Amino acid sequence: MSKKSSLDSLGFNPAEKLINGHTLTKVEFVELLKESENPEIRTILTEEAVRLRKVYYGDKVYTRGLIEFTNYCKNNCYYCGIRCGNKNAGRYRMSQEEILDCCENGYGLGFRTFVLQGGEDPFYTDERMARIIRKIKETYPDCALTLSIGEKSYDSFRLFKEAGADRYLLRHETADEAHYRKLHPENMSLSNRKRCLYDLKSLGYQVGAGFMVGSPGQGKEELAEDLLFLSELQPQMVGIGPFIPHHDTRFAEEEAGSVDLTLFLLSVIRILLPRALLPATTALGTIDPEGREKGLLAGANVVMPNLSPVKNRKQYDLYDNKICTGEEAAECRGCLARRVESVGYRLVNERGDACE
Ligand code: SAH
Repeated sequence: MSKKSSLDSLGFNPAEKLINGHTLTKVEFVELLKESENPEIRTILTEEAVRLRKVYYGDKVYTRGLIEFTNYCKNNCYYCGIRCGNKNAGRYRMSQEEILDCCENGYGLGFRTFVLQGGEDPFYTDERMARIIRKIKETYPDCALTLSIGEKSYDSFRLFKEAGADRYLLRHETADEAHYRKLHPENMSLSNRKRCLYDLKSLGYQVGAGFMVGSPGQGKEELAEDLLFLSELQPQMVGIGPFIPHHDTRFAEEEAGSVDLTLFLLSVIRILLPRALLPATTALGTIDPEGREKGLLAGANVVMPNLSPVKNRKQYDLYDNKICTGEEAAECRGCLARRVESVGYRLVNERGDACE
C-alpha cells in the first residue's frame, strides 16, 4: 500500500498533511498527538523522518563537545536541579583556562563544535564572556562555538556574536502561557524567552529552541503549542528530551516523560523542519539505556558528549541519575561513536552547520 492510501484507509489526515508539507492548525496537531501510540502512524512518520534526515544529512551524525562551565544560576526554574533555590547543590564555576583545556582535549578527539552551557551566572559578565569567546575562536578558527547561557539583552547577544559565537541554544521550555507559569517563578516570562529567540535569529545566529517532554502539566494542547511555535520560529536546531524529576525540586515525585512520546515528537519535528539539527539527548539516554540510539532511528542527527572535567560532572545536576558523569571525554566520545555505528550511522569530525 502506498503511504497515502494507507493513511487514507485510516480516515486520518493530519499525518498526511504534515508529510505533504502543509501547515497544521493547533486542532490538527492535537489530533496528530492523539495518534502517538498508533503503531501504523508511528511507522509511517518514523520512515518519513528517516528518509528526510538521509536526504539532507546522509548517514552523518554531528557531535558537539558540551562544556558545562558553571552551575551557579540566578533563576529558579521549578524543575531544575541547579535552580538558585536549591541550597543542597554544590556549586562550581570554571576559569577561562579550564574552559580552554576542555577545548584542547576536545579538539584532539575530533570535536569541531564546542557548546558552552551553564546556569545564568552573573560572575560571567558580558565582557568576561566575550573574552572567552574571542579566545576560543582565535585558538580554533575552524570550530563552531555554541552558547547556552540563558536569557540576555539584544546588546549582549550582539556583543557575543561580534566576539565570534555562531550558535545559541535556548529551549523555550513550553510555548503555552499557563504551562510556563506552572514551571517558572513570577520574575520569568515566556514573552522574554521568545523575544530572546527572535533577537538571536535576527542577529544571524543558528538558533536552537526546544522543550522537555512530559514536564508536569503538559498535555496534548500544550505540546501542540510547542509544535506551532516551532513552525513559526523555524529554528535551525531543536533540543527535546524527556522531563526527569530532580529530588530537590517541587516536582520530585512527578513521573518522568515517556521515551515513546519523545521519539514520536522527534520524528514529527524532523518532518516539520527537515533540515533541523536534532540531538539525541543525554536525558533520553538517561531514562532508557538505548535512548540515544532510538533517537537517531527516529530522526535525530546530533549527539552531545560531555567535555566537562570529570570532577565537575556530577555537580551539573539538572535531573536525577544523569548518565556519563564518571567518564573522561575520550571514553564518552568512544562510547557514543560505537552507539552511533550500531544503528547504521557515522560520527563525523565536522562543524556540522545546519544545511541551507
Ligand atoms: N541556563 C541555560 C541552560 C539550561 S540547562 C538556559 O536557560 O537555557 C539545559 C536544559 O536542561 C534546559 O533548557 C531544560 O530544558 C533541561 N532541563 C532542566 N531541568 C530538567 C529536568 N528536570 N529534566 C529534564 N531536562 C531538564
